[in-house]
Amino acid sequence: MFATLSDRLADTFKNLRGKGRLSEADIDATAREIRIALLEADVALPVVKEFTRAVKERARGAEVSGALNPAQQVVKIVNEELVAILGGETRRLRYAKSGPTVILLAGLQGAGKTTLAAKLAKWLKDQGKSPVLVACDLQRPNAVQQLQVNGERVGVPVFAPEPGNGTGDPVAVATASLEHARRTLHDVVIVDTAGRLGVDAEMMQQAADIRDAVRPDEVLFVVDAMIGQDAVSTAQAFLDGVGFDGVVLTKLDGDARGGAALSIRGITDRPVMFASSGEKMTDFDVFHPDRMASRILDMGDVMTLIEQAEKAFDSEKALKAAEKLGSGGDFTLDDFLEQMQQVRKLGSLSSILGMLPGMGQMREQLADFDERSIDRIQAVIQSMTPAERADPTIINGSRRARIAKGCGQTVSDVNQLVDRFFEARKMMQQMARGGGIPGMPGMPG
Ligand code: GDP
Repeated sequence: MFATLSDRLADTFKNLRGKGRLSEADIDATAREIRIALLEADVALPVVKEFTRAVKERARGAEVSGALNPAQQVVKIVNEELVAILGGETRRLRYAKSGPTVILLAGLQGAGKTTLAAKLAKWLKDQGKSPVLVACDLQRPNAVQQLQVNGERVGVPVFAPEPGNGTGDPVAVATASLEHARRTLHDVVIVDTAGRLGVDAEMMQQAADIRDAVRPDEVLFVVDAMIGQDAVSTAQAFLDGVGFDGVVLTKLDGDARGGAALSIRGITDRPVMFASSGEKMTDFDVFHPDRMASRILDMGDVMTLIEQAEKAFDSEKALKAAEKLGSGGDFTLDDFLEQMQQVRKLGSLSSILGMLPGMGQMREQLADFDERSIDRIQAVIQSMTPAERADPTIINGSRRARIAKGCGQTVSDVNQLVDRFFEARKMMQQMARGGGIPGMPGMPG
């Protein structure tokens, strides 16, 4: 699931790496690539259009953030937009204020409804609830028995019409199940309804009749994520025919391209509430839009990093440094030290880089990065006079010897630092001329 989409998006972000600032052409190209990636993942066209429009607009207006380079900003925007189309906040199940909570399941045959009913029952049981499953799929041969087998697997009782009661009336069974639940003190009733291979009026009517009879707290539409674009039209048909409050996506373990997951909320305005991802009864969980988005972006904890960076980075100081450079002012050793300390605030550099997308190369370079080198740099700089720090060009040979002695390091350590400082300054000045705010220049390597 999502593998191709993830790869495609990663390529898109890779193309932005190293750019100091995004031009209109960069933004257009990025939007185009994202559009293709989403279309290839089977995302519905209206959703794709809205998504790329939003990303484009936000990328254009993106504020220059001290902590993030343009590529990271685009990742951040795409991530936030993904979370939004997946429904934003995690939608929790609503329980009845009094009496048993009624959950009605609807969906096509083969969607995974019966399996899901048992998974949901198990999940509720694990939450301390006392659910009962209700077999209202009286159409498909063996459906009742299948629910009973699944119910047994999770240790949840099944309310079903007595064998020999003819084909039974699903509305009557559903109605009786509420009375049964009250009597036996079950607090959640999960009603499994009949599905057909295709949408048909009779099935819709039956589900609607059951709905009217039991007045569910939640109607959940169960849909197989593997059916791709069809998921959206099926959802629309169920929305019109029965109506539903939330969606359960099944078979997320399959190699579907993920379009269903990404389109359903946008098209139906109903949140995905649960996801089912395998044959085991435990392959089931609440659907978290944010976690799904980071899974799609396949970027580990990149968002955590971005948040950390934003928090740790003192943008006021960065702005001041940039202003100074922009107005022709000089970048001093004091500024250099401050930048180092900003970097230090981010925590262990190598672990942070581990969270960054496409940072393989950097990570290698930093594999033997020693954080103590920041302490050593600090010691050398503190051993300098204020005049030396403000204007490092005056640091001649005898001054270097004195500084080295003062901080207990070698002259070559001092030389190295001074050289590195000049390099960093050059880089800062180039960046300032390019218009970007320098992020972390002069990182010791
Ligand atoms: P129903 O007709 O909607 O009740 O669907 P079933 O619950 O009978 O499921 C149809 C088939 O899909 C069965 O073979 C299930 O084992 C399988 N299935 C259900 N949910 C999942 C899932 O999340 N992942 C996978 N791989 N298979 C599933």
